[in-house]
Amino acid sequence: MNHIATTLDVNRIRKQFPVLNQEVNGKPLIYFDNAASSQTAKVVVDALIKFYERDHANIHRGIHTLAERSTKAFEETRERAQQFINAGEADEIIFTKGTTESINLVAQSWATKFLKEGDEILISQLEHHSNIVPWQLAAEKTGAVIKVIPINAAGEILQDEYLKLLNAKTKLVAVNYVSNSLGTINPVKEMITAAHDVGATVLIDAAQAAPHVKIDVQDLDCDFLALSSHKMYGPTGVGILYGKRDLLEAMPPYQGGGEMIKDVSFSGTTYNDIPYKFEAGTPNIGEVIAFKFAMDFIDEIGHEAIQEYEHKLLLYANDKLKKIPGFNPVGTAKNKASVISFLIDNVHPYDLGQLLDARGIAVRTGHHCTQPLMDFLGIDGTVRASFAVYNTEKEIDVFCEALDNIVKKFS
Ligand code: PLP
Repeated sequence: MNHIATTLDVNRIRKQFPVLNQEVNGKPLIYFDNAASSQTAKVVVDALIKFYERDHANIHRGIHTLAERSTKAFEETRERAQQFINAGEADEIIFTKGTTESINLVAQSWATKFLKEGDEILISQLEHHSNIVPWQLAAEKTGAVIKVIPINAAGEILQDEYLKLLNAKTKLVAVNYVSNSLGTINPVKEMITAAHDVGATVLIDAAQAAPHVKIDVQDLDCDFLALSSHKMYGPTGVGILYGKRDLLEAMPPYQGGGEMIKDVSFSGTTYNDIPYKFEAGTPNIGEVIAFKFAMDFIDEIGHEAIQEYEHKLLLYANDKLKKIPGFNPVGTAKNKASVISFLIDNVHPYDLGQLLDARGIAVRTGHHCTQPLMDFLGIDGTVRASFAVYNTEKEIDVFCEALDNIVKKFS
């Protein structure tokens, strides 16, 4: 029974996730690893099955009925994604494998054309490796320099320091909207405005924001934005790169191959228009088509109801966890998504992860692909519980009881 007063019907939502109705190690599964990958909604799985059972054909090339069907459904997801993030036009939506590929696309195409020696790339201490390493590669190629925006002990970006770092040499700011390790929600709109004031281009890593926060790229006025379907109740292998039309048009192709060309001859090749210029080869067609249903699923519940519900779960869990002896939260930002990173005195995170798994509870342990953040915090890693729209207060009760028992065994 869900005690959190909310407009959201969690029992109805859970019916979309049959995967949750199973036992793991003899206990009912409690899935708290949603920041890594959320479970896939049944409407999404049904769409995938329908595609492979009825509609499978390559897109954009055939004139037969199945090819037309799959092309239409594929392009419908593009329009759906345009609405989902409020992009000005569907052509500004590029399908990729996920956030990592979206960022690499910008780092290889835009950065290698527009960055030169001495230019500055600003990223924050909070970034996922996917929003660090591609810029290191771009910096190596172009001679640009990476500067790191510092954070405080709570895991919040120091806005004054950020403003001090911005200058005429800043050509790119790349920051996450929501931190995957700590859950911090960053004030990206203000950060984008400040970056634009010095003429910098801004990429927002929205991998963790997309399932929780309403994204409006026109309101944010970001230049690029990246997200992944598998964190949004959708399939793996699909993501989006949003880019403003003028930027995408000015960028060279990222990969060469079929689909991204207009004409090919041995004396030279002309490239397709956006978005196809950046979509070489056969994409994950079925997964892209099914991704539309994940966005429908989120929008049907509504971001406001999702945020309200998940925030209540977060507060409820915080309140219970702090009563556990030796509990130390890692990351205590004022504005947080439903992610709790923590350590327990004298218990290694890895052991905790295993002992929780033995009780059917899935959490993440380790550095969460944010080693520079862990270095700053002076730790090797944390245990991370991250909540999704199908989690319940009762699951948090079971989780806290399990933690309490584990702690008692170690003390
Ligand atoms: N950025 C953030 C903030 C993430 O949390 C993740 C995944 O955990 C990524 C980037 C990479 O996403 P993907 O593995 O889907 O490409």
